[in-house]
Amino acid sequence: MIFETHAHFDDEAFDKDRDSLLSSMQQNGIGTIVNATASRKTVEQSIELTKKYPFIYTTIGVHPSDCDEMDDDELKWLEEMCSYDKAVAVGEIGLDYHYDEPSKEIQKKWFEAQIEMARRVKLPLIIHSRDAAKDTLDIMKALRSEEIGGDIHCFSYSVEIAREYLNMGFYIGVGGVITFKNGKKLREVVEYAPIDQIVIETDSPYLAPEPYRGKRNSSLNLPLVAQRIAELKGLTTEEVIEITEANARKLYNL
Ligand SMILES: [Zn+2]
Repeated sequence: MIFETHAHFDDEAFDKDRDSLLSSMQQNGIGTIVNATASRKTVEQSIELTKKYPFIYTTIGVHPSDCDEMDDDELKWLEEMCSYDKAVAVGEIGLDYHYDEPSKEIQKKWFEAQIEMARRVKLPLIIHSRDAAKDTLDIMKALRSEEIGGDIHCFSYSVEIAREYLNMGFYIGVGGVITFKNGKKLREVVEYAPIDQIVIETDSPYLAPEPYRGKRNSSLNLPLVAQRIAELKGLTTEEVIEITEANARKLYNL
Protein backbone atom coordinates (compact mmCIF):
# COMPACT_ATOMS: atom_id res chain seq x y z
CA MET A 1 0.00 0.00 0.00
CA ILE A 2 1.01 3.60 -0.50
CA PHE A 3 3.26 5.14 2.18
CA GLU A 4 2.68 8.89 2.59
CA THR A 5 5.96 10.16 4.04
CA HIS A 6 5.02 13.79 4.69
CA ALA A 7 1.65 15.51 5.24
CA HIS A 8 0.11 18.06 7.60
CA PHE A 9 -3.33 16.74 8.54
CA ASP A 10 -3.36 18.92 11.65
CA ASP A 11 -3.70 21.93 9.31
CA GLU A 12 -6.88 23.97 9.60
CA ALA A 13 -7.57 23.25 5.92
CA PHE A 14 -8.82 19.85 7.18
CA ASP A 15 -10.93 21.12 10.10
CA LYS A 16 -14.24 20.50 8.34
CA ASP A 17 -13.71 16.92 7.15
CA ARG A 18 -10.55 15.59 8.81
CA ASP A 19 -12.16 12.52 10.33
CA SER A 20 -14.09 11.39 7.27
CA LEU A 21 -11.05 12.00 5.06
CA LEU A 22 -8.60 10.09 7.29
CA SER A 23 -11.13 7.28 7.78
CA SER A 24 -11.24 6.81 4.01
CA MET A 25 -7.47 6.52 3.52
CA GLN A 26 -6.91 2.81 3.96
CA GLN A 27 -9.80 1.74 1.75
CA ASN A 28 -8.25 3.97 -0.94
CA GLY A 29 -4.86 2.29 -0.74
CA ILE A 30 -3.04 4.73 1.56
CA GLY A 31 -1.56 2.32 4.10
CA THR A 32 0.61 4.55 6.29
CA ILE A 33 0.90 8.30 6.88
CA VAL A 34 3.65 10.23 8.64
CA ASN A 35 2.26 13.55 9.82
CA ALA A 36 5.00 16.19 9.83
CA THR A 37 5.17 18.84 12.53
CA ALA A 38 6.41 22.42 12.43
CA SER A 39 5.89 23.86 15.93
CA ARG A 40 5.04 22.94 19.50
CA LYS A 41 1.33 23.33 18.77
CA THR A 42 1.45 21.06 15.72
CA VAL A 43 3.46 18.45 17.64
CA GLU A 44 0.63 18.30 20.18
CA GLN A 45 -2.02 18.11 17.45
CA SER A 46 -0.07 15.51 15.51
CA ILE A 47 0.33 13.25 18.55
CA GLU A 48 -3.46 13.42 19.01
CA LEU A 49 -3.90 12.20 15.43
CA THR A 50 -1.55 9.26 16.02
CA LYS A 51 -3.62 8.24 19.04
CA LYS A 52 -6.81 8.22 16.99
CA TYR A 53 -5.49 6.44 13.90
CA PRO A 54 -3.26 3.37 14.14
CA PHE A 55 -1.77 3.99 10.68
CA ILE A 56 -0.60 7.57 11.44
CA TYR A 57 2.85 8.31 12.86
CA THR A 58 4.43 11.66 13.67
CA THR A 59 7.67 13.58 13.35
CA ILE A 60 8.84 15.88 16.15
CA GLY A 61 10.44 19.21 15.30
CA VAL A 62 10.24 22.94 14.72
CA HIS A 63 10.26 24.32 11.17
CA PRO A 64 12.83 27.04 10.35
CA SER A 65 10.05 29.58 9.76
CA ASP A 66 8.61 28.82 13.22
CA CYS A 67 11.81 28.93 15.29
CA ASP A 68 11.89 32.66 16.12
CA GLU A 69 10.56 32.07 19.64
CA MET A 70 12.31 28.81 20.32
CA ASP A 71 14.36 28.43 23.50
CA ASP A 72 16.18 25.75 25.49
CA ASP A 73 13.04 24.75 27.38
CA GLU A 74 11.24 24.09 24.12
CA LEU A 75 14.16 22.02 22.85
CA LYS A 76 14.04 19.98 26.04
CA TRP A 77 10.30 19.45 25.63
CA LEU A 78 10.81 18.34 22.01
CA GLU A 79 13.43 15.84 23.12
CA GLU A 80 11.00 14.39 25.65
CA MET A 81 8.36 14.06 22.94
CA CYS A 82 10.82 12.09 20.80
CA SER A 83 10.52 9.16 23.20
CA TYR A 84 6.81 8.77 22.32
CA ASP A 85 6.48 5.40 20.62
CA LYS A 86 4.84 6.75 17.44
CA ALA A 87 7.48 9.47 16.95
CA VAL A 88 9.49 8.28 13.94
CA ALA A 89 11.70 11.24 12.95
CA VAL A 90 12.98 14.68 13.91
CA GLY A 91 11.47 17.25 11.55
CA GLU A 92 10.68 19.16 9.71
CA ILE A 93 13.82 21.07 10.48
CA GLY A 94 16.17 23.03 8.25
CA LEU A 95 16.62 26.42 6.64
CA ASP A 96 14.15 28.57 4.69
CA TYR A 97 15.61 31.76 3.23
CA HIS A 98 12.54 32.49 1.12
CA TYR A 99 11.43 35.03 3.73
CA ASP A 100 13.71 37.34 5.73
CA GLU A 101 12.41 36.21 9.11
CA PRO A 102 13.55 34.54 11.30
CA SER A 103 17.14 35.63 10.71
CA LYS A 104 19.62 33.17 9.20
CA GLU A 105 21.49 33.08 12.51
CA ILE A 106 18.40 32.01 14.45
CA GLN A 107 17.45 29.42 11.84
CA LYS A 108 20.94 27.93 11.80
CA LYS A 109 21.13 27.79 15.58
CA TRP A 110 17.95 25.72 15.96
CA PHE A 111 18.64 23.62 12.89
CA GLU A 112 21.96 22.56 14.41
CA ALA A 113 20.44 22.04 17.84
CA GLN A 114 17.73 19.76 16.40
CA ILE A 115 20.23 17.74 14.35
CA GLU A 116 22.15 17.09 17.57
CA MET A 117 18.87 16.18 19.26
CA ALA A 118 18.14 13.63 16.51
CA ARG A 119 21.55 12.09 17.11
CA ARG A 120 20.82 11.76 20.85
CA VAL A 121 17.35 10.26 20.41
CA LYS A 122 18.44 8.09 17.45
CA LEU A 123 15.73 9.24 15.01
CA PRO A 124 16.21 10.14 11.32
CA LEU A 125 16.07 13.74 10.04
CA ILE A 126 13.28 15.21 7.90
CA ILE A 127 14.86 18.21 6.24
CA HIS A 128 13.07 21.31 4.92
CA SER A 129 15.37 23.45 2.78
CA ARG A 130 14.26 26.30 0.55
CA ASP A 131 16.53 28.82 -1.17
CA ALA A 132 19.27 27.67 1.18
CA ALA A 133 21.06 24.86 -0.66
CA LYS A 134 24.63 25.70 0.35
CA ASP A 135 24.08 26.52 4.02
CA THR A 136 21.91 23.43 4.53
CA LEU A 137 24.49 21.11 3.00
CA ASP A 138 27.38 22.80 4.85
CA ILE A 139 25.68 22.38 8.22
CA MET A 140 24.63 18.82 7.53
CA LYS A 141 28.14 17.85 6.48
CA ALA A 142 29.78 19.67 9.40
CA LEU A 143 27.52 17.79 11.83
CA ARG A 144 28.13 14.45 10.06
CA SER A 145 24.42 14.02 9.33
CA GLU A 146 25.16 10.99 7.17
CA GLU A 147 25.59 9.10 10.45
CA ILE A 148 21.98 9.96 11.33
CA GLY A 149 20.27 9.66 7.93
CA GLY A 150 16.84 10.81 6.82
CA ASP A 151 14.93 12.47 4.02
CA ILE A 152 15.22 15.75 2.11
CA HIS A 153 11.53 16.52 1.94
CA CYS A 154 9.99 18.23 -1.10
CA PHE A 155 13.37 18.21 -2.82
CA SER A 156 13.75 21.42 -4.88
CA TYR A 157 17.41 21.58 -5.85
CA SER A 158 19.57 20.43 -8.77
CA VAL A 159 20.98 17.02 -9.65
CA GLU A 160 24.37 18.18 -8.30
CA ILE A 161 22.93 18.83 -4.84
CA ALA A 162 20.88 15.63 -5.01
CA ARG A 163 24.07 13.67 -5.69
CA GLU A 164 25.59 14.97 -2.43
CA TYR A 165 22.61 13.85 -0.36
CA LEU A 166 22.29 10.52 -2.14
CA ASN A 167 25.96 9.86 -1.44
CA MET A 168 25.28 10.62 2.23
CA GLY A 169 22.56 7.94 2.15
CA PHE A 170 19.61 10.32 2.34
CA TYR A 171 16.25 9.76 0.69
CA ILE A 172 14.77 12.28 -1.75
CA GLY A 173 11.13 13.24 -1.02
CA VAL A 174 9.09 13.64 -4.21
CA GLY A 175 5.61 15.17 -4.36
CA GLY A 176 3.19 17.01 -6.60
CA VAL A 177 5.82 19.30 -8.11
CA ILE A 178 6.90 16.39 -10.32
CA THR A 179 3.62 16.79 -12.26
CA PHE A 180 4.00 20.57 -12.72
CA LYS A 181 4.85 22.11 -16.05
CA ASN A 182 7.77 23.87 -14.33
CA GLY A 183 8.84 20.71 -12.47
CA LYS A 184 11.61 19.85 -14.93
CA LYS A 185 14.41 20.16 -12.36
CA LEU A 186 12.71 17.65 -10.06
CA ARG A 187 12.06 15.26 -12.96
CA GLU A 188 15.79 15.36 -13.75
CA VAL A 189 16.57 14.52 -10.13
CA VAL A 190 14.13 11.60 -10.21
CA GLU A 191 15.68 10.31 -13.43
CA TYR A 192 19.10 10.50 -11.79
CA ALA A 193 18.32 9.13 -8.31
CA PRO A 194 18.27 5.37 -7.67
CA ILE A 195 14.67 4.26 -7.13
CA ASP A 196 15.63 2.78 -3.76
CA GLN A 197 16.41 6.29 -2.45
CA ILE A 198 13.10 7.90 -3.47
CA VAL A 199 10.07 8.28 -1.21
CA ILE A 200 6.73 9.86 -2.06
CA GLU A 201 4.91 12.60 -0.17
CA THR A 202 2.20 15.21 -0.66
CA ASP A 203 3.03 17.94 1.89
CA SER A 204 -0.76 18.22 2.17
CA PRO A 205 -2.62 20.55 2.20
CA TYR A 206 -0.01 22.16 -0.11
CA LEU A 207 1.36 21.32 -3.57
CA ALA A 208 -1.49 19.31 -5.08
CA PRO A 209 -0.39 17.52 -8.26
CA GLU A 210 -1.85 18.21 -11.67
CA PRO A 211 -4.71 18.29 -12.57
CA TYR A 212 -5.54 19.58 -9.07
CA ARG A 213 -2.77 22.18 -8.79
CA GLY A 214 -3.82 25.04 -6.49
CA LYS A 215 -6.51 23.00 -4.74
CA ARG A 216 -6.27 21.45 -1.29
CA ASN A 217 -4.01 18.41 -1.45
CA SER A 218 -4.45 15.09 0.36
CA SER A 219 -2.69 11.73 0.39
CA LEU A 220 -5.42 10.41 -1.92
CA ASN A 221 -3.53 12.18 -4.76
CA LEU A 222 -0.37 10.12 -4.28
CA PRO A 223 -1.14 7.71 -7.17
CA LEU A 224 -0.63 10.69 -9.52
CA VAL A 225 2.87 11.20 -8.12
CA ALA A 226 3.71 7.49 -8.28
CA GLN A 227 2.47 7.36 -11.86
CA ARG A 228 4.75 10.20 -12.96
CA ILE A 229 7.78 8.59 -11.27
CA ALA A 230 6.88 5.29 -12.98
CA GLU A 231 6.91 6.97 -16.40
CA LEU A 232 10.34 8.48 -15.73
CA LYS A 233 11.82 5.27 -14.37
CA GLY A 234 10.29 2.80 -16.84
CA LEU A 235 8.42 1.02 -14.04
CA THR A 236 4.75 0.34 -13.40
CA THR A 237 2.87 2.55 -10.93
CA GLU A 238 2.37 -0.54 -8.75
CA GLU A 239 6.12 -1.18 -8.67
CA VAL A 240 6.81 2.43 -7.66
CA ILE A 241 4.22 2.20 -4.88
CA GLU A 242 5.75 -1.04 -3.61
CA ILE A 243 9.39 0.12 -3.77
CA THR A 244 8.72 3.54 -2.21
CA GLU A 245 6.76 1.88 0.60
CA ALA A 246 9.73 -0.37 1.36
CA ASN A 247 12.04 2.69 1.23
CA ALA A 248 9.80 4.62 3.63
CA ARG A 249 9.72 1.70 6.09
CA LYS A 250 13.52 1.71 6.10
CA LEU A 251 13.65 5.49 6.46
CA TYR A 252 11.29 5.52 9.46
CA ASN A 253 12.30 2.11 10.87
CA LEU A 254 8.73 0.83 10.63
ZN1 LIG B 1 5.88 19.97 5.27
